[in-house]
Amino acid sequence: MAVDLPADSIQYLEDMPPRGMLVCISGPSGVGKGTVIEALKRRMPRLTHSVSVTTRPPRSGEQDGVDYFFRTVEEFEAMIENDEILEYDFYCSNYYGTPRRAVEEKLSRGEDVIMDVTVPGSLSILYKFDAACSIFLLPPSLSALRERLIGRGTENGDIIDSRLLKAVDEIEMAPKFDYILINNDVNFSAEEIRYIILAEKLRAIRRPAIEQKVLNR
Ligand code: 5GP
Repeated sequence: MAVDLPADSIQYLEDMPPRGMLVCISGPSGVGKGTVIEALKRRMPRLTHSVSVTTRPPRSGEQDGVDYFFRTVEEFEAMIENDEILEYDFYCSNYYGTPRRAVEEKLSRGEDVIMDVTVPGSLSILYKFDAACSIFLLPPSLSALRERLIGRGTENGDIIDSRLLKAVDEIEMAPKFDYILINNDVNFSAEEIRYIILAEKLRAIRRPAIEQKVLNR
């Protein structure tokens, strides 16, 4: 008989270590990382999303502190200087970075944190955090990616071309990640990521001395 796992890993798994887990999602611009993360958060309400800092101008509808913290280049460079940035990248002429304090506070409260970052961003997180988990989202094809970038209507032709050019290099880095998904369908991808997170939470490395607790019950 098939059994459905409950929605949220933290509610489901007892005896979890107090520290949360970092999940990095990378993939080319337009692959649908943001939409997949939104669908995942509806399934796993206790999963928190790290809000990044960027020097890119806000797109219409984007809010400071919700979609990104929008900062000037000078402000961003001062944050790097003051060690306030956990990892950062200079991507298509703009800085993007993860604020250190917010992530560390969430992890120490036992919250799992999902980050939407460039490929170098994920690789730098994997280098700093042994137990981080990395997921690469592939588009079904390059032409599907192009159509999605055009359909999104948030970038002009030149920016779309530079993001597509970058996409090929990014896609070639996919084998460096722990998991590779093809984003054919948002809900399906979100569900696959939920399974990955649930499985990752069961890894022995995240359950130190769990067997002793069981033996002492
Ligand atoms: P966009 O301009 O489309 O919002 O984002 C461009 C790229 O920046 C995306 O691939 C996104 O994953 C990445 N990105 C967003 N926030 C961060 C961050 O904090 N660090 C890094 N390294 N990349 C980020």
